[in-house]
Amino acid sequence: MSVHGASHHATSLTPELEALRAVADHARHNAWCPYSHFPVGAALVSDDGRVFAGCNVENASYPAGTCAERVALGTGVAAGARRFTRVVITSATHEPTPPCGICRQALVEFSPDLDIVAISPDGRVARWSLSDLLPAPFTPASLQNV
Ligand SMILES: [Zn+2]
Repeated sequence: MSVHGASHHATSLTPELEALRAVADHARHNAWCPYSHFPVGAALVSDDGRVFAGCNVENASYPAGTCAERVALGTGVAAGARRFTRVVITSATHEPTPPCGICRQALVEFSPDLDIVAISPDGRVARWSLSDLLPAPFTPASLQNV
């Protein structure tokens, strides 16, 4: 289930979301972000219930860096997952952090209606469907139009 638009309220989380938040926070504490000083963690849930963690991994060659969401996605795909139901994203900022545009594109390849839950350290929650954040996606079907 997803709620349209962001609601930045401190909300009591369900046990499932609290568990995913813990996974994302654990990864966030391992983030390699000496350039942005913006650590992010992600916990991506596959349709068979597995959870894949990711953190941002920056690089002295800045464009070589990648985001937490795509690290989690790559880990999941490498483990054989192909569909995902939810991602929980944690950051150190007061406002919950939505996935960047590149990550939206990467995620839509596998799960156009992914439930995205962003949580700040003080428990503020923002929630979207990926289809709301990326309303006109370029998908594998787009390649059929040549
Ligand atoms: Zn990103």
